[in-house]
Order: sequence, then C-alpha cells, then structure tokens
Amino acid sequence: MSENHSESRSPHEYEWQIIEKVRETHDTYTYSLKPNSASERFNFGIGQFVTLSALLKRPTASGDFEESVANRAYSIASSPTRDYIELTIKEEKPYGYINPVTKKSDAFAAYFNQQVKIGDKIKLKLNPSKEHFLSKVDAGIEKNIAYWSGANGAQSARCLIQFMEDKKDSGQDLVLFYSNTKLSIESDNSQINNTEHHPVESLNVIYYNWLLDVVKKLENLKVVFTFTREQEIPTASGDSRIIFRKGRFFLNSDGSPERTLTKYGNNIETSFNPVCGSSAFINGTVRLPDGKLSKGKGILQNLIEIEGIRPEKTDKEQFYLQQVGAN
Ligand SMILES: Cc1cc2nc3c(=O)[nH]c(=O)nc-3n(C[C@H](O)[C@H](O)[C@H](O)COP(=O)(O)OP(=O)(O)OC[C@H]3O[C@@H](n4cnc5c(N)ncnc54)[C@H](O)[C@@H]3O)c2cc1C
Repeated sequence: MSENHSESRSPHEYEWQIIEKVRETHDTYTYSLKPNSASERFNFGIGQFVTLSALLKRPTASGDFEESVANRAYSIASSPTRDYIELTIKEEKPYGYINPVTKKSDAFAAYFNQQVKIGDKIKLKLNPSKEHFLSKVDAGIEKNIAYWSGANGAQSARCLIQFMEDKKDSGQDLVLFYSNTKLSIESDNSQINNTEHHPVESLNVIYYNWLLDVVKKLENLKVVFTFTREQEIPTASGDSRIIFRKGRFFLNSDGSPERTLTKYGNNIETSFNPVCGSSAFINGTVRLPDGKLSKGKGILQNLIEIEGIRPEKTDKEQFYLQQVGAN
C-alpha cells in the first residue's frame, strides 16, 4: 500500500447493492454494485480502494460455524466514468483454513464469494487518501504508464483501461505487465491458443478473456503476459499488442538479466511504473514460517537497478504480505 493512506477523518460508510456477480476464474468473482439511493453515491479516482464489511459464516476448529463481521480492502476495478462500481475478489486463503492461534477461520474472500449473492446490500467505505499509487495517473500528470501486476493486482489497471475506453484520450498509453504462475489450473495446457477464450472454471488469470478483447479495441494498450510456472505458453496471435513470455520479469531463460521494460515498454524515459500485488512481487519481501521477514528483490528493485528508472517514477500498492509456503 502507498505510504500515505492515513487520514484523521473517519470515512463515511455507504450502502451499495450487488447487481451482478460474474465468475472470473476458478477462485475469483467480479461484483457490480450500485448505490442504494442517490445519497449513497460517491466520487472516486483511478486507483482508489474501498473497504468492504460483510457478515460471514466461517468455520471454527471444532467444525461449527460462527457468524461475524469481517472487513477487507478492494481496489475499484471499474472506471469513475461509469454509474456502478465493480470489485474483483480473489480467494488467497483456502476455504476451511483455520488460524492455528485463534482456532477460527480468518479468511474473507472464500466466504464472501460463497455467501454473497445478487440483491445483497454491502457496506463499504471509500479510502479518502488523495496520495494513492495512481494519484498522478488520476490527475493526468503521468500519461505513459507501465503497470506491473502480480496474479492479484490488475484491478486498478482494469479501472484505467475502462477509463481509456470511455475517454478515448490518444495521449494516454498503457503497457500492462501481468505475471501469473500459469494460465489454467488444468495440468494439460497443450491446447492453449490465445485466439480462443479460455473457460473460466479452470482459468487462473483474472481478466484474461476480457484483456484479449479490449486490446483489439484500444490502440494505446499493450499487454505483456508472463507465466512463471508454465511449460507451454499461448502462441502469439500476430497481434503485436498481446505478448506472451515465460519466466519471471527481468530474467532471460538463460538466467541473465532482461531489460523487460526496455524490450516491451514505450519510451521508458517518460514511463511511470506503478506496481501492484503481493509483497513478494513488489519487493521480494516474504514472511518466513518462524514469523521473521525475509527481504529480497522484486519489480521495484529491478526497475531501478536493471532499467535505471528513478524511484519517483514508480509507486506501489501492496495487497498482502506473502507468507512462505502458503501458496
Ligand atoms: C489497498 C488494498 C487493495 C486491495 N485490493 C484487492 C482487490 O481488488 N482484489 C483482491 O482480491 N484483493 C485485494 N486486496 C487484498 C484483499 O484485501 C484480500 O487480502 C484478498 O481478497 C484475499 O482475501 P482472503 O480472505 O483470501 O485472505 P486474507 O485473510 O486477506 O489473507 C491473505 C493472506 O493469506 C495468506 N495465505 C495465502 N494462502 C494461505 C494458506 N494456504 N494458508 C495460510 N495463509 C495463506 C497470504 O500470504 C496473505 O498474506 C487488497 C488489499 C489492499 C491492502
């Protein structure tokens, strides 16, 4: 998360209703919400997030279920130019996971996705900080964007892409660098063909089908997919604005450093590089089983050390601290 998210004023709690629930992948849903009444509507900028509160039934170690209110932060995944908001919620902790200390489930997403349905009313607070990781993009100060997303991190890029669709500003450029372990949870990926949409039940990449379509409509959008655990990757379709590569960003297949931004980006001297995802993706930080933090290198360090990007041309939004052995 950006450093400046604190604000003394407690944000107002709104009530919005779920009007659509769409399955994105095997473990992720996108919800469309509309305000319960005109007074519940609020303005927001590209890159802002809301905190959801939901009453969820979750298991305890004894096998019972307990109902309690739980909260989590979610980046707004739809453009401020639209009438509704969309939130994409990915399950990180597995259903049934019991916290060994509290002896209860402390997950949110798996239960939200299971229990929340169309028509339900949800309480949400807009994070009021004006200094979030895309605030310069929202203000129109940065227009040449290289957005780096981990497997869970492309929500604000979707917000920006929808905004680009609506505003048709030819001066705005986006290259989405999108890292996932694999395209599908099925083991046999020999049939992968990027010209075909992938069935969502087994899909592992959030917005995959949508991105293939939207790239065709927006000349100033390019998507560079990388797959870190895939033997087979989709074949190039001939569309130069959809690129598939294997392995980690900034690493060639022979283990030497790759200047990934220089290779696939636009005019890197002016590019602004927001990075969004887990701590491991952003800066190589993970929590070890003994509770200690291990600090490594992630996209931010690679941008600075390999590409020579100035730190002020980067920013970050951390979704969660990666636990070693958890995923
Ligand atoms: C500003 C901000 C914006 C965010 N926006 C989004 C968004 O748009 N969409 C989204 O999906 N998420 C977003 N998140 C993250 C979100 O709040 C939740 O953390 C996420 O949905 C996962 O929820 P969960 O209930 O599955 O896991 P949580 O209870 O939130 O826990 C996540 C933690 O679980 C750990 N974990 C993973 N697997 C295991 C395992 N097997 N055993 C134990 N621990 C495990 C992970 O390492 C991580 O530290 C955002 C977070 C922040 C701070």
